[in-house]
Amino acid sequence: MAETLTATSEDIAVELTPSKASPKPGKLFIGGEFVDALSGKTFETRNPATGAVITDIAEAGTEDVELAVRAARKAFEDGSPWRKMSPRDRSRALWKLAELIRQNADELSELETLDTGKPIFESSKFDIPQAAECFEYYAGWPTKIAGETIANTAGGEALVYTLREPIGVCGQIIPWNFPLQMLSWKVAPALACGNTIVLKPAEQTPLTALRFAELTLEAGIPAGVFNVVTGFGPTTGAAMVSNPGIDKIAFTGSVEVGKEIMRTAAGTLKRVSLELGGKSPNVVFADADLETAAKYALGGIFFNQGEMCTAGSRIFVEEAGYDAFMSVLRSRAQKMVAGDPLHPKTRLGALISEEHLNRVLNYVAVGKEEGANVAIGGTRIGSKGYFMKPTVLEGVTNQMRVAQEEIFGPVASVIKFKDIEEGIREANNSQFGLAAAIWTRDVKKAHNVAKRIKAGTVWINTISTTDNAVPFGGYKASGFGRELGRAAIDLYTETKSVWVDLNQ
Ligand code: ADP
Repeated sequence: MAETLTATSEDIAVELTPSKASPKPGKLFIGGEFVDALSGKTFETRNPATGAVITDIAEAGTEDVELAVRAARKAFEDGSPWRKMSPRDRSRALWKLAELIRQNADELSELETLDTGKPIFESSKFDIPQAAECFEYYAGWPTKIAGETIANTAGGEALVYTLREPIGVCGQIIPWNFPLQMLSWKVAPALACGNTIVLKPAEQTPLTALRFAELTLEAGIPAGVFNVVTGFGPTTGAAMVSNPGIDKIAFTGSVEVGKEIMRTAAGTLKRVSLELGGKSPNVVFADADLETAAKYALGGIFFNQGEMCTAGSRIFVEEAGYDAFMSVLRSRAQKMVAGDPLHPKTRLGALISEEHLNRVLNYVAVGKEEGANVAIGGTRIGSKGYFMKPTVLEGVTNQMRVAQEEIFGPVASVIKFKDIEEGIREANNSQFGLAAAIWTRDVKKAHNVAKRIKAGTVWINTISTTDNAVPFGGYKASGFGRELGRAAIDLYTETKSVWVDLNQ
């Protein structure tokens, strides 16, 4: 076995840690079986740390999507083993899935790192355990989903109650940045509510979804309840969105694709929930604990190479605290090196693809043209694998493209502001509204600002935390619908009102 290596910025990917996982060629998972695409077509999934092909993956066409939808429909129908399963047994099956994720955590972490380029530290400490926790959290729900009895306003002799019923076949389309975690956010609540699923992982990162499919069989999830179609967005994904047999589409990804999905879903009036991009403001007031704020700001933007929809990519710093905050941020950012994703000490991995790396680097050039100053980083590392230096742009104004457009990479745009009013106004001056962070020691100010920020999540004196019990989703162009917590139970059920006339 070759020596492992903590790569420095110049020698990355010269010799990477050998992987223990050897993923098989990926097939589609339809009706409880792994099958080839009807066309026989495949595509390659690559390791972003080396650019090398990991394995071939089946490419689902419209007909394969149709077969998956039919399998999911059959499993949803009255009389199927899934419909006959009691809430208590559904609960146990979800818990079993969580246990299986934990038992296979090493393999899943390695697959996730191979496919995404994210550090194994993150896969093994965050992505995979959090996916297991999500199934544990939703394992508690099947036995607690209930309607209500309602006194109708006209009074009289009528009994009215509601039932919460599963929606049916849910099409779930997920991105490449947190593959198994995004799967868990969608699959766990949908199953808890009794739905069946056709899932499409991102074409860049299908490996953990396929391994998870095997685990559903071990967990006793009946055939057809969970199906995986691998393939590209405009073909496989679009075939799902237009398929009349799918009742709901849950999507996480880019704004442009979100709009496209809404337009197409209108054709069959599917339910749609969208978790789209962000350009989250991280607003640092001069009265904050500036050292802690600077430390957390780095995690807010550089965790997962900045490939996060919640990334705190616009760092607003109040003038009076600017120098103190920036000296900590600069010196810490300077010390961050990207490295071999499979090395346990690495904290910054590779970007997902060469195309994406070039897109991110282009934003650095755009920032320079707009008059921003590259204080830290700004360049690619080496030529093998898709590594980039953590980058801090200073002298940014909120009108620049680097402050308004989602970069989805390790690039922080730092913007000065004068006072609380300007801070709030500029933080809200964005098409997005996914998340925001506020740093201050003044409790009154913190809550007042939190109230006035237009975002689905506001963190006070912290950043980037999520929890399975806490609703998550966006305002404005960041989408609609809330995932996680009780909110996801609403997202995956229909409400039926039942009237009983007590006079007759
Ligand atoms: P990103 O820019 O992060 O890759 P995308 O929005 O392009 O985000 O992709 C997120 C997910 O949406 C992926 O699974 C991708 O294959 C899928 N997708 C892309 N285009 C479409 C489309 N037109 N219809 C349905 N799904 C799509």
